Amino acid sequence: MAQGVPFAREYGGLLSNRSFGGTQVQRTFYAAGQTGQQLLLGAYSALERQVALGNVEMHTRHEMLDVVVIDGKTRGIIARNLITGEIERHAGHAVLLCTGGYGNVFYLSTNAMGSNVTAAWKAHKKGAFFANPCFTQIHPTCIPVSGDHQSKLTLMSESLRNDGRIWVPKKQNDDRKPIDIPEDERDYYLERRYPAFGNLVPRDVASRAAKERCDAGYGVGTSKMAVYLDYAAAIERYGKIEVGKKGLSNISKEEIIALGKDVVKEKYGNLFDMYAKITGENPYETPMRIYPAVHYTMGGLWVDYELKTTVDGLYALGEANFSDHGANRLGASALMQGLADGYFVIPYTIGNYLADEIRTGHISTDHPAFLQAENEVKETLNKFVNCKGKKSVDYFHKALGKIMWNDCGMARNKEGLEKAIKEIKALRTEFWNNVMVPGTVDEFNVELEKAGRVADFIELGELMCKDALDRNESCGGHFREESQTEEGEAERNDEIYSYVAAWKYINAGESELNKEPLIYENIKIAARSYK
Ligand SMILES: Cc1cc2nc3c(=O)[nH]c(=O)nc-3n(C[C@H](O)[C@H](O)[C@H](O)COP(=O)(O)OP(=O)(O)OC[C@H]3O[C@@H](n4cnc5c(N)ncnc54)[C@H](O)[C@@H]3O)c2cc1C
Repeated sequence: MAQGVPFAREYGGLLSNRSFGGTQVQRTFYAAGQTGQQLLLGAYSALERQVALGNVEMHTRHEMLDVVVIDGKTRGIIARNLITGEIERHAGHAVLLCTGGYGNVFYLSTNAMGSNVTAAWKAHKKGAFFANPCFTQIHPTCIPVSGDHQSKLTLMSESLRNDGRIWVPKKQNDDRKPIDIPEDERDYYLERRYPAFGNLVPRDVASRAAKERCDAGYGVGTSKMAVYLDYAAAIERYGKIEVGKKGLSNISKEEIIALGKDVVKEKYGNLFDMYAKITGENPYETPMRIYPAVHYTMGGLWVDYELKTTVDGLYALGEANFSDHGANRLGASALMQGLADGYFVIPYTIGNYLADEIRTGHISTDHPAFLQAENEVKETLNKFVNCKGKKSVDYFHKALGKIMWNDCGMARNKEGLEKAIKEIKALRTEFWNNVMVPGTVDEFNVELEKAGRVADFIELGELMCKDALDRNESCGGHFREESQTEEGEAERNDEIYSYVAAWKYINAGESELNKEPLIYENIKIAARSYK
């Protein structure tokens, strides 16, 4: 609010709350159906204000390609000007990485195309531990994959599960149109399996349940890898409420539906428009088709309570770090973490580090450590353009994404993960010998940018599979098929796996596992039931 984000309010002026997955109470603040977008605008405005005040110097269209560590302390970064290709050195007494999550390791995800792991991965290579890399959140409410041409998937906001009902036909391979399938031939599987939470079970539970139905042959749409998100009941319900509010009588069903559509339009109109534009279908008339997609990564750089990584002077904030969410993340909590890390933690904790640096004067970028890091960055960039192989960067990214989605996605098992590790190792070798990056290093070169990111994604992908293999229990977004109840629910094993897996980088494909035990002094941990 301090940033001017127009959060929804009740009639009386208090902030309004609504339900989100995983909770039975309404406790989420929101700004219509576009909370994230409004937050982004708020954050940009606040940043621009500081830029105008002279407190922040912006370097847009630059990519950080390495951190510089001098005598065990982080003293700067190496960045590439993406327009000119120039390599720059930037010095500082500390470095804060706020570089987001790594969901794009799966190639297809709801993340922005430019999201990547490079900054965090370079920090990892310089000594920062990477924690719980296999914990990925797969969001249940996304527009399904429609073909090989796609480079991105679209999230339909979780807010839609507030009112929409999720179902599949009771008959396998049912090719009828959804509106031709009568009520008693529909399986509202979330309401059936989880009567207490219904359509508002947490994301991992809803995603796995959709996969289970589709794998069993009940999926819908041409790919049969989709389920319905249906607003018909909500439209009718809202219509009836409007009739009551307006004191109308002798109203036909069509008029009730029209009134209900207006209410839904008011609440979710922008999301419905987006769906209609992408799929060519009218969600007011026919149920939307949805399927889970990679959305958020709970793993990231290990940090302590001061948000410091295992390298002195190197901090990680927001989705780039591993903290706060554990193996799962409830809706809207990235906002919570961004606010907490940025407003309430780092301004107070970084002082603890800087206080001891008070006698450290200006840090020169002429230090040999800067030269060495810069040379290494240049060497890698040159390797890409000089490789002159036969396959595009996207070819490797897609191949990696497929391995990750099939074997380290919504369900994982020992055999699949071991196979994936072998396949990723082979892909890494092929990448470095056969990638084709056109153009030169000292110009605007999008393929070169992507090559660096994919090289890091390949190494990260292998670590994610190793982490998933090590954790032979199911928890949150990490579902090991070997560890499930008779009803197919995730089964935790707190006795053995109650630890943060913090990996140390040794070499490409070689990492060392450090276990940070999870010790609860004030609460007793227990598995949750959503039944
Ligand atoms: C479609 C979608 C909807 C979402 N909706 C919600 C929601 O409603 N509520 C909620 O709480 N969360 C939501 N999330 C999650 C939330 O948006 C993210 O977790 C959050 O934005 C992460 O913030 P961040 O600042 O840590 O990273 P980001 O917002 O990802 O920002 C990272 C920045 O670092 C830059 N960067 C990355 N690498 C480098 C590099 N090497 N050099 C220079 N710059 C670099 C990136 O370009 C980017 O600008 C949503 C996410 C998506 C994808």
